[in-house]
Amino acid sequence: MTQKRIAILGAGPSGLAQLRAFEAAEAAGVKNLPEIVCYEKQNDIGGMWNYTWRTGLDRNGEPVHGSMYRYLWSNGPKECLEFADYSFDEHFDRPIPSYPPREVLKDYIMGRIDKRAIFKYIRFENPARWITYDDDSKKFTVTVMNHKKDVQETEEFDYVVVATGHFSTPNMPYFEGLEQFPGRVLHAHDFRDALEFEGSDLLLIGGSYSAEDIGTQCYKYGSKSVTISYRSTPLGFDWPEGIEERPLPTHFEGNVAHFADGTTKKFDAIIMCTGYLFHFPFLPDELRLQTHNCLYPDNLYKGIFFQNNPNLIYLGMQDQYFTFNMFDAQAWYVRDVILGKIQLPDAEQRQQDIQHWLTRQDTLTSPNESIDFQAQYIRDLISVTDYPDFPIEKQAELFKSWLIDKEENIMGFRDKSYRSTITGTMAAQMPKPWLNIKDDSLEGFMAMKF
Ligand SMILES: Cc1cc2nc3c(=O)[nH]c(=O)nc-3n(C[C@H](O)[C@H](O)[C@H](O)COP(=O)(O)OP(=O)(O)OC[C@H]3O[C@@H](n4cnc5c(N)ncnc54)[C@H](O)[C@@H]3O)c2cc1C
Repeated sequence: MTQKRIAILGAGPSGLAQLRAFEAAEAAGVKNLPEIVCYEKQNDIGGMWNYTWRTGLDRNGEPVHGSMYRYLWSNGPKECLEFADYSFDEHFDRPIPSYPPREVLKDYIMGRIDKRAIFKYIRFENPARWITYDDDSKKFTVTVMNHKKDVQETEEFDYVVVATGHFSTPNMPYFEGLEQFPGRVLHAHDFRDALEFEGSDLLLIGGSYSAEDIGTQCYKYGSKSVTISYRSTPLGFDWPEGIEERPLPTHFEGNVAHFADGTTKKFDAIIMCTGYLFHFPFLPDELRLQTHNCLYPDNLYKGIFFQNNPNLIYLGMQDQYFTFNMFDAQAWYVRDVILGKIQLPDAEQRQQDIQHWLTRQDTLTSPNESIDFQAQYIRDLISVTDYPDFPIEKQAELFKSWLIDKEENIMGFRDKSYRSTITGTMAAQMPKPWLNIKDDSLEGFMAMKF
């Protein structure tokens, strides 16, 4: 039998989970593993967590992937994203608070990686350019741009795992008069340093996580005022003085926004927190996942296998309450299908399963129900693999508490502590309120007394 070949596109948390899953099988003595090539557009692992100061194009002329901003802190409790096979205790050797800043979280995510074992698979600065599938040979042809050699290269594979993320290509709306606005107009994708907006009257368009998080952060770093402008419903938190919500603007006149409720206000800058597009420019229509951001995208069996061609695999394409442990659950399942331990059913049965989840998704009416839905989805995946069982349902309960904490105090929820569902360790208490901690570097954070 010839060895199967797998192309993994992207070495962010999802792609790394796939590499880790095969590494775990190898460590367990599984023989005849497939040959793996991981193509990564950037020059390092970590995906979104690989923070960059760059915006626009990278040094190779590729669109910058990163949407992370400098002073980002975990937006959910770390106890809800803990790997089942690598705990925070194991990594940090002492309890840390529940909401670590970006560099600390990245340190944890990367800490699980055995770089020597994994780097041999990864070809950095190799963005996928175009992929085709041949029905006769049952092979994918993957063409990449090898920027290191400045040549395009093409290879054949039996499986393609798309792990390129979906929070990178901005969805950018238009409002009348924007072209005359005298200040900066940018998408959240290009937001980096909140200090740029110190002393500014800032308008954030969009009523979701990005607006909430960028808004509170800019307030923390000294914006004069933050106005969050929502399409249908306000976020509705008990905002401090200096943050307010208004409906969408109807148009702009110079630096003045006219809102749907008839009010007006002058602004210095506008940040579009209007979400991201699922963008796979390297895939032809017949292989391309077409979806919006939701908990269960259509046409993916188990939320992973492309219905028209289940050898095409998508990781991490869900809207995300759960993140890293969900990517693990998916990656372990994929590995076992490729290794022949799990048999995929025929197209009709796959369709029935997809429909079952889509129908359930349609009945969800609250964030709590959505959290349970995603927990049940993960449970469905890990119940058939050897990924260490972990208390997903308890983590779901933590997510629900997190929602209540935010309701109670949107500027202070990060000061709360939770107990790990993996180790039972209680998180350390933040030594001072999140609002007052400006140094969020790894060194600065770990040097604090908690
Ligand atoms: C602003 C922001 C804040 C977030 N905060 C949190 C948080 O606090 N907690 C949390 O758990 N999650 C958070 N997330 C969610 C985040 O998306 C996930 O944590 C995680 O990064 C998703 O992993 P991924 O591997 O699926 O995608 P990504 O991390 O996006 O990685 C995709 C990888 O694919 C590569 N790639 C893209 N195109 C190509 C191509 N054509 N060829 C080859 N490689 C390619 C990219 O360079 C990248 O390395 C946040 C996301 C954003 C945008």
